[in-house]
Amino acid sequence: MRDENCIFCKIANGEIPSRTIYEDEQFRVFLDLSPAAKGHALIVPKEHYANLYELPEELAADAMRLAKKEMSLMTQKLSCDGFQLVQNNGETAGQTVFHFHLHLIPRYRTDGQKIAWEPGSMSDEELDAVKDQIIS
Ligand code: AMP
Ligand code: ZN
Repeated sequence: MRDENCIFCKIANGEIPSRTIYEDEQFRVFLDLSPAAKGHALIVPKEHYANLYELPEELAADAMRLAKKEMSLMTQKLSCDGFQLVQNNGETAGQTVFHFHLHLIPRYRTDGQKIAWEPGSMSDEELDAVKDQIIS
């Protein structure tokens, strides 16, 4: 399953060159062209799924297994001080390429990056109401 107009379909399947650091039957892992920090890479499935909602459960599990392996390897090779996994779903959440991808972002004490959110505030009543709304 591919989308003719999708750049990550083309990269993942080798039609467009990329700085690939790992590849198997299901995934390609390549460097982000606008890295947040040295070594910023993307785990991208070769099949087209727009986001995590669409990604089959097994592939999601495999993506996380691969992320764990890659972050350990990259931490060793780059001597980074920490590591962030980022995964955006939908424009509102910051997604700009609509083919599922998982960001692997090595972090360094001196990288000056802020990949974070502004802490908000909610009353106990509001928190209780949210909990009641989404509890399963
Ligand atoms: P997101 O905002 O989560 O959808 O992330 C999309 C990411 O893809 C951004 O970090 C971009 O820098 C990156 N990106 C877009 N086009 C390319 C490309 N051709 N090669 C490598 N990375 C890309
Ligand atoms: Zn695609």
